Amino acid sequence: MNPLRPPLRFRLWSAAFVVGALLPLRATAAEPAVGQPLPRGERGMLDIHTINTGTGDAAFFILPDGTTLLLDAGAVNRTGERDPNYDAPQRPDRSQRPGQAIVAYIRRVHPEGAAGALDYAALTHFHGDHMGTLLPDSPASKSGAYQLTGITDVGDAIRIRTLLDRDWPDYNYPAPSGGAMMLNYRAFLKWQAYHQGLQVARFEAGRADQIVLRKSPREFPQFEVRNIAANARVWTGTGTTARSRYPAGVLPNENNCSLAFRLTYGAFAYFNGGDMAGHLTPTAAAWTDLESAVAWVTGPVDVHDLNHHGTPDGANTFFLSVLQPRVHILSTYASSQPGPDLLRRLLSEKIYPGPRDVFMTNTHWPGRREHMVKLYGEKEAAWLVEQFGKIASTQGHVVVRVAPGGSSYRVTVVDDRKPDGAVQSVHGPYQARGAVGR
Ligand SMILES: [Zn+2]
Repeated sequence: MNPLRPPLRFRLWSAAFVVGALLPLRATAAEPAVGQPLPRGERGMLDIHTINTGTGDAAFFILPDGTTLLLDAGAVNRTGERDPNYDAPQRPDRSQRPGQAIVAYIRRVHPEGAAGALDYAALTHFHGDHMGTLLPDSPASKSGAYQLTGITDVGDAIRIRTLLDRDWPDYNYPAPSGGAMMLNYRAFLKWQAYHQGLQVARFEAGRADQIVLRKSPREFPQFEVRNIAANARVWTGTGTTARSRYPAGVLPNENNCSLAFRLTYGAFAYFNGGDMAGHLTPTAAAWTDLESAVAWVTGPVDVHDLNHHGTPDGANTFFLSVLQPRVHILSTYASSQPGPDLLRRLLSEKIYPGPRDVFMTNTHWPGRREHMVKLYGEKEAAWLVEQFGKIASTQGHVVVRVAPGGSSYRVTVVDDRKPDGAVQSVHGPYQARGAVGR
């Protein structure tokens, strides 16, 4: 035996160590790691980035063939006038408008790089926290044809090929939309259509051909976006027909006009319903519960973007018992969101059994607790704070990344305090449930 040669046992351990050190390099090429930037997704994956600006909703989708979709571009309130106790701080900071922060985010993660266009943009409904509040000092676009806020800020910087909303081209349902925010939006559509070739279309409940893969649809036949609702008309589940949830002559409010859709990719399913309501006060008219009608045709999903940010009228018991989400994403931006009763519903195993993870885009900021006490009382505020300590995440961009083919997915939380924030936490992998009867 060569006395200089290390014992066999040691040599085997050394070999195992080297192999062990190399393996993760191969396996983690596109896997997120805490403290590192989020790696780019790959072809065949589905990315859903819930972008946190602290001022409303924005979600950027990278579909399996690289088709891109931006859902909403919220920018609520004027920075200087926001109530620091009630409103979440703007992210990443106040040096740029929320629309500019959304643009910067998209440019960082777009599969075609910073020059990539948006194949689709869609607005769930016409409220400032989804499309951008128009302020007297919102700057004019270079052309001077419209002012920059929310969706117009995004569309001014990034070419949008097709824009879907709930009421093009008339903008008169349930009432004529003559406000300054809508006039500015319509001036934006007109200019972009004439100068940039923007196509605008009305999102229609029941259809499954309005958001499609634009690049290689045949390669991913197991992908679909089904329009579930718009203007309080809900898909019947048969063909592409839809019917109104409201009696003739009764008009829905803006929140209940929200678009809703179900995105499926193989066994994976995701639901987003804007700000529609479902949990009613005892004296409310039954048809204002839109969620129950929507739930029955949506079926079980893996990931659910909570309706209406965590306001008490979202996520009724029946809706949750049918959708049974494994993952809830809460686009919260006010200290009232979520209320204690709503959070109890989301967590209740009497509504549906099994584990579920809750991700909030905003939670802790100075003055919030004080305001929660004002809204819900000391005891309920303390309960909420205790729950915030237990749920999966309470602050940051929430990125759902679905594996090629849709069999499993991970949820990654990304630091929202810097434009290129690092991964804060990684959750999963979760198995997509491939819901029976969907
Ligand atoms: Zn909203």
